[in-house]
Amino acid sequence: MSRTGAEPAAEEGVVIRVVDLRKQYGEIRAVDGISFEVARGEVFGLLGPNGAGKTTTIEILEGLRVPDGGVATVLGLDVARHAAELKERIGVQLQSAALYPRLTVTELLTLFASFYRRSRPPAELVAALDLGERAKAQTRQLSGGQRQRLSVALALVNDPELVFLDEPTTGLDPQARQNLWDIVRELRERGRTILLTTHYMEEAEALCDRIAIMDHGRIMEIGTVPELVGRRFRERAVHFDPLPGVGEGELAALPGVSRLAREQDGPTLLYTADVPATISAVLALADDRGLEPRNLGVRNPSLEDVFLDLTGRALRD
Ligand code: ATP
Repeated sequence: MSRTGAEPAAEEGVVIRVVDLRKQYGEIRAVDGISFEVARGEVFGLLGPNGAGKTTTIEILEGLRVPDGGVATVLGLDVARHAAELKERIGVQLQSAALYPRLTVTELLTLFASFYRRSRPPAELVAALDLGERAKAQTRQLSGGQRQRLSVALALVNDPELVFLDEPTTGLDPQARQNLWDIVRELRERGRTILLTTHYMEEAEALCDRIAIMDHGRIMEIGTVPELVGRRFRERAVHFDPLPGVGEGELAALPGVSRLAREQDGPTLLYTADVPATISAVLALADDRGLEPRNLGVRNPSLEDVFLDLTGRALRD
C-alpha cells in the first residue's frame, strides 16, 4: 500500500468517511467528534486503551448504534439511513457471540450464508480459515482460536467489500494470532478493505496501512506507522556497551548528540538527529583510546513510544 497519512482519498476510493461523529452515554462522551477516511483496499487500525471509544465507533459504522451527531458514510451510504442495505455488503465479526453451540461449523456457515443474497460456499470458508479438521465439530467443542477463526469466517460469509474486526486476536496464543494475521493479509490481497481495532501494538504495526490512535473518544493522531513515529520523534538512539574510561561529558559533546542516557547495567544511549555523524564520532573516539565499542547499534522509536507519549499510558490497563 502506498497511501500515506491523513491525505484525503479520491472520492471513488473512499470506503469509510466519518465527519465529526459523536456518541454520548449520559455524561460519557464515548465518541467525541471524530473525523477520518478509509480508502478501498486499506487495512485501517483503530488503536486505543480500554474505553477509548473504538467499539462504539465501529458499531456505529456497522449500523448497530445510532450516533448523536456527525455523519458516517460507508460504501457511499449513510449508515443511519441505509443499515439494511449495508448489511449485505459489509462483514461484521461478532465477539465470541452465541455461536449456536450444537450446530457444526459447516451447519453454522450454511445458516449464516442463507441470510444473504450473495455468499461464499461454506467449504471454501472452512478451507480459507483452516477449519477443515473441525468442519463437522459442534461449535461448543472448538478451542478459543478455532472459535475466533469461525467468527471471522462468519464475517466473510457474504464475501463483503468491507470487513470489521473488533479485537480479532484478543486471547489468542501466538500461533493462532499469526494465522489470523495471514487471513487479514489474504483479504487485503483480495482487494477487501478492513477496519480493525486492537489492543496490540505489534498487531497494528504488522497489519495496518494506517492507524488512528484514539483516547477519550477523540482521535489523537492518524497516519502510517513511520509517519506517526517520525512526527513525534526526530531523534534515534545510538547505543553501545559502556566504554571504560570515557566520560559522559565527552560523549554528550559528540556531533548530533542532544542527550545521553545510561541504562542500568546496560548500554550507553546517545540520542541524535544525525546518526551517521554520531556513529563516526563514537568510532573515532573509541579508536583513539584503543577501545572497540561493543554491541553498537541504532534503536528506532516504535509505535509503543508514540502511544505512551500521546496517552501517557500503556495500551492495556
Ligand atoms: P475496550 O477496548 O475496553 O473495548 P473501547 O475503546 O472499545 O474500549 P467503548 O466500548 O467504545 O471503548 O466505550 C467507550 C466509553 O463508552 C466507555 O467509557 C464505556 O464505558 C462507555 N460505554 C460504551 N457502551 C456503553 C453503553 N451501552 N452504555 C453506557 N456507556 C457505554
